[in-house]
Amino acid sequence: MPVRNICCIGAGYVGGPTCSVIAYKCHDIKVTIVDLNQARIDAWNSDNLPIYEPGLDEIVFERRGKNLFFTTDVDGAIQEADLIFVSVNTPTKKSGMGAGMAADLAYVEGATRRIAEVAKSSKIVVEKSTVPCRTAQSMRTILEANSTPGIHFDICSNPEFLAEGTAIKDLLNPDRVLIGALQTPEGIAAQKALAEVYTHWVPADRVITTNLWSSELSKLAANALLAQRISSINALSAICEATGADVDEVAYACGRDSRIGSKFLKASVGFGGSCFQKDILNLVYLSEQLHLPEVAAYWKQVVIMNEYQKKRFVRHIISTLFNTITNKKIAVLGFAFKKDTGDTREAAAITLIKDFIQEHARVAVYDPKVDHEQIFRDLSEPGIVDNRKEVEKHVTICASAYEACHDADAVVLVTEWDEFKDTALD
Ligand code: NAD
Repeated sequence: MPVRNICCIGAGYVGGPTCSVIAYKCHDIKVTIVDLNQARIDAWNSDNLPIYEPGLDEIVFERRGKNLFFTTDVDGAIQEADLIFVSVNTPTKKSGMGAGMAADLAYVEGATRRIAEVAKSSKIVVEKSTVPCRTAQSMRTILEANSTPGIHFDICSNPEFLAEGTAIKDLLNPDRVLIGALQTPEGIAAQKALAEVYTHWVPADRVITTNLWSSELSKLAANALLAQRISSINALSAICEATGADVDEVAYACGRDSRIGSKFLKASVGFGGSCFQKDILNLVYLSEQLHLPEVAAYWKQVVIMNEYQKKRFVRHIISTLFNTITNKKIAVLGFAFKKDTGDTREAAAITLIKDFIQEHARVAVYDPKVDHEQIFRDLSEPGIVDNRKEVEKHVTICASAYEACHDADAVVLVTEWDEFKDTALD
């Protein structure tokens, strides 16, 4: 049976754009995106969407109220749907077993239990969140143990590979769509039904079908491989700086080798974002659980190198400014973790500014998309500065790059927003 009604649980950076694009491309499917967070849903229903992504507004405004809906009525949307995406957050665990490494699956479990409790008909349940290998097994157990007799659930894994900042472009024209399912007749039928949603606009040869566990692991593996390239070029940048080699020239020379390729070879202050570090730590934890300590150590080094790069960057700034930045003004251009997004999760700017504050510098920050309050909130978090007054004493948020740079002793370009290139040329 073709899918006619989709519910997406989680109206975040993944659920919102992904299911808006499905509604945009599949007018014959009703798509309802739900969240427990009323403010987030209100923003999705307003002119000021809660997420900034180039091209997102046009897509939402075109389909909202037609076949695209945002609501906090989670139960109603679950009951109506034939297919449910679980697209909730899976942050690194903060306490308990696996703290600091394993994924916190409490939100996935909460959403799964809700589906089991309220569903009145059979459903395809799709794991969209990034989860450790074999999470689908736990979801199946929860669904089977808690559901009404006679109701059947099929589980698919459909990890999301979009990159923030280019989410809409990636969703409209994906390199691939990956769908994993149990290789039973029911599992294969569910996989086919989900594939038919995507083939409304994605060429069939880009829809890859695998078993459940390959699909779950492929998402962690893809993020680990991408992050590893960044740490590799950053490790080389340290050698370049010590030898007089130019890391951009080295990256270009290496990237011209078709076996290596040129993408993701730009040296930087290190990767940020909600996914790379979390997913690698997840892979490290999985390796440890599987008694593969050498494998765990290998992937952990990618994260260690990333932290090293940020520290090295701060040390370089301090040594350039005659070994002290006390009372000096440091302009920080960019606060989001990358350009074309307002997302600040794990942004490199947070770590750098924390270090600048510890050295008693005055910090002037400018970012074109990040809300001022968000910057103060991120810097005041426990483990960062943990003291709002201290943050406000040292940090000023500016309305432009020029204002931030005025009279600055150092200008630190953290996020590669295009407008900074133009500013530099003025
Ligand atoms: P997010 O925090 O932006 O959004 C998750 C949303 O789920 C939140 O709004 C939260 O309120 C909601 N939620 C949690 N439990 C709920 C429940 N029981 N019922 C209803 N709503 C609930 O997270 P995100 O960035 O969209 O990431 C979601 C998943 O996708 C994560 O597993 C992440 O690793 C993965 N992922 C993220 C990206 C990315 O670029 N952000 C890319 C690929 C995959």
